[in-house]
Amino acid sequence: MHTDRTHRLADLTWPEIAALADRAPIAIVPLGACEQHGPGMAMRTDTTRAEVVADVVAQRLSPQVVVTPVIPVGVSEHHMAFPGTLTLSAVTLQQVVHELVDSLYRHGWRKVFVLTGHGGNNAAVEVAVSRLRADFPDLHIAWSGITAVVSDVVADLATSQVRGHSCEIETSQAMFVDPSLVFPERLERGSADLADLDPAGQLSRAHPGIHFPQAYDVLSRTGNLGDARQASLEAGERIIQTAVERIATFLGELANLPARLPSPYPPSIHVEAS
Ligand SMILES: [Zn+2]
Repeated sequence: MHTDRTHRLADLTWPEIAALADRAPIAIVPLGACEQHGPGMAMRTDTTRAEVVADVVAQRLSPQVVVTPVIPVGVSEHHMAFPGTLTLSAVTLQQVVHELVDSLYRHGWRKVFVLTGHGGNNAAVEVAVSRLRADFPDLHIAWSGITAVVSDVVADLATSQVRGHSCEIETSQAMFVDPSLVFPERLERGSADLADLDPAGQLSRAHPGIHFPQAYDVLSRTGNLGDARQASLEAGERIIQTAVERIATFLGELANLPARLPSPYPPSIHVEAS
């Protein structure tokens, strides 16, 4: 996917950014990971997916959005048994997000969107967002993953009973955003049926809403779920284009939203809706 990069903060000069400030009310902070993606996909898969989706969304809404550099390492402790995976602790990542958004705030941004390409980052992002809302009462801050906003499309396209990490859905996305992420001849079927999982893995998948985390070396011999061989460029295009469309629609509405006003209530009685 070709993207031009005029909205990337790191590619601009400070006078350009100063001139853009009034016209670009939203900043996107993309988060990735450097973690194993099975035998047929590169470690930077989540980083590249987040970066490309952020780029395309920014182009769609140009010039209203700037994109910060992607953070190329995330919370990947559950993949550490596989060579090359790098991980930050959740405490470190939430601090990184907090400090990046703090920097944006000091330059005038009051609307920020954190886009994570890696589900392992979610808990850290949630804590960071909660702190940022408390620390900056006039900051609008929102976040999402990529596949989370297209779960209906994913359910429609998935072919495996067990899916998720490096399955046919994620591999399809990688083929579309950057074909160099995928080594088609090395793609393998991972744990694609419940019967492929050990008893703890089966239990972890049997009760929706209950979190029973498992490490990937236990879940899958190859490191991936689902069947990466079933991936297709067409499926990837539909997933990514729909995600871009939905995130861009949200951000378009966020751009027009009035400024967030500090709560009129003292903090002690202000209850956050969950
Ligand atoms: Zn991934």
